[in-house]
Amino acid sequence: MKLTIKVKPGTTVKLDKHDPDETFGLTEEQADERLAMLTDELGELQELLYAARQHSVLIILQGMDTSGKDGTVKKVMTDVNPLGCRVEAFKVPSEEELAHDFLWRVHKVVPPKGLMTIFNRSHYEDVLVVRVHELVAKRVWKSRFHQINEFERTLVESGTIIVKFFLHISKHEQQKRLQAREREAAKAWKLSPGDWQERELWEAYQSAYETALMRCSTAYAKWHIVPANQKWFRNLAVAEALVRTLRPYRKDWEKVLQKLSDRKLAELEAMRATRSADA
Ligand code: AMP
Ligand code: MG
Repeated sequence: MKLTIKVKPGTTVKLDKHDPDETFGLTEEQADERLAMLTDELGELQELLYAARQHSVLIILQGMDTSGKDGTVKKVMTDVNPLGCRVEAFKVPSEEELAHDFLWRVHKVVPPKGLMTIFNRSHYEDVLVVRVHELVAKRVWKSRFHQINEFERTLVESGTIIVKFFLHISKHEQQKRLQAREREAAKAWKLSPGDWQERELWEAYQSAYETALMRCSTAYAKWHIVPANQKWFRNLAVAEALVRTLRPYRKDWEKVLQKLSDRKLAELEAMRATRSADA
């Protein structure tokens, strides 16, 4: 069963049509059991990705403040080897970054073959926060949808597998999570007065997200909408979509590895043969 909503290229997105509380009748216990199997499989797939070096994987996480981007990384990547995985977080751009085109800081950190990189926020901020706060002229952010699609096409055509997730929470759920940060000492470090101000722009953000999901869900890099009010469901849905995306590559990667192993063994044998001939 598919647990995320894949945005079909060229279709309209209305976020209020998608229930952030959706769990498809699963219980938390069932979900955790399935998550354990999926994270295990994800670990295996990542090892193959790393060794075969045929592709790279770029995972893009977007969502409103408190939507669970950090938590998703922590819970879904439990069996992934840190050796082959990076997380890149995109904050307010520096002066140097602002002096370049908006993709400059992003392109520098995309994964090379063999690696998996997770973007915690991404180039999509340049059509989200930038649009909502009118940080550039309308014609500038409008031209970015096309630029993003071409950028992502370039990555895909050079072997990158892109998976994009929008963590969909409700405004009420955000309020609960922000209040929990105030109440619980262990969470207070995450507090940012700015989050309450951004919350006042909720509708503008939702509408900016709708446009981005519509304009930038392409045949080669689709957006997934993830019901994310229930953290346990969100983790399962992301893990499931990731594994589902990577699974078809497994056989190819195994074949490449088999060939590589055969070659290395033959080299070793040849080396030993010349040694014994010399002796
Ligand atoms: P956080 O993810 O909570 O650490 O916050 C990072 C902040 O950086 C968020 O408020 C984002 O909106 C902001 N941010 C990220 N990228 C951009 C960008 N390109 N322009 C402006 N603000 C950005
Ligand atoms: Mg924040």
